[in-house]
Amino acid sequence: MKLLFVGPPGAGKGTQAARVAQRLGIPHISTGDMFRDHVARGTDLGRRVDSIMKAGEYVPDEITVEMLGERVAQPDAKDGFILDGFPRTEGQAEALDGLIGRHSLDTVVVFEVDEDALVERLLERGRVDDTEETIRTRFKVYQEQTAPLLDLYNSRDVVVTVDGIGEVDEITERIVEVLDTENRIPTTASPEGSP
Ligand code: ADP
Repeated sequence: MKLLFVGPPGAGKGTQAARVAQRLGIPHISTGDMFRDHVARGTDLGRRVDSIMKAGEYVPDEITVEMLGERVAQPDAKDGFILDGFPRTEGQAEALDGLIGRHSLDTVVVFEVDEDALVERLLERGRVDDTEETIRTRFKVYQEQTAPLLDLYNSRDVVVTVDGIGEVDEITERIVEVLDTENRIPTTASPEGSP
């Protein structure tokens, strides 16, 4: 059960990734959360990425890939995970193939959200890197660098899209349902004693 959650900033993918991961009993791995944790703890890595994140730019692939590589090598990630916010560049997508093998990705869940709704949501969230200018930069960077990755995953026929507008619970159900329908992962445990 190796899943990627992809979408523009503010699409709600982090919230949904956490919920779906809990449902499936697999870890939720968010590179954004990992970087924020480094910044909060004041590690060397945190000091290197702080200003990059505040500007809404992407952290260099070298740094990001190394951190992610260590995380997916942890025992809890052996049987699956939801990656949230990774890969975001072509280099990261290639690195991910190298780390887990190109055939082991089950599904890429893409969030579709109207741009105006996104800006509104992000300004409400009020995170330290959520200024209007940074939000605009993150959109531009997403369109330029991350959206093209969908071509790659579409060509592998692993992409499903989800409407990201609505109540949080409702969207979680949409995702679980789409994963079920696609029959890519078991989203409901089998009854006690049955195979
Ligand atoms: P959002 O989805 O709202 O943009 P994230 O929490 O996913 O927020 O990421 C916040 C910031 O962390 C990004 O703007 C970027 O600077 C950095 N970041 C997170 N993931 C990556 C990545 N895979 N590659 C490069 N930078 C990243």
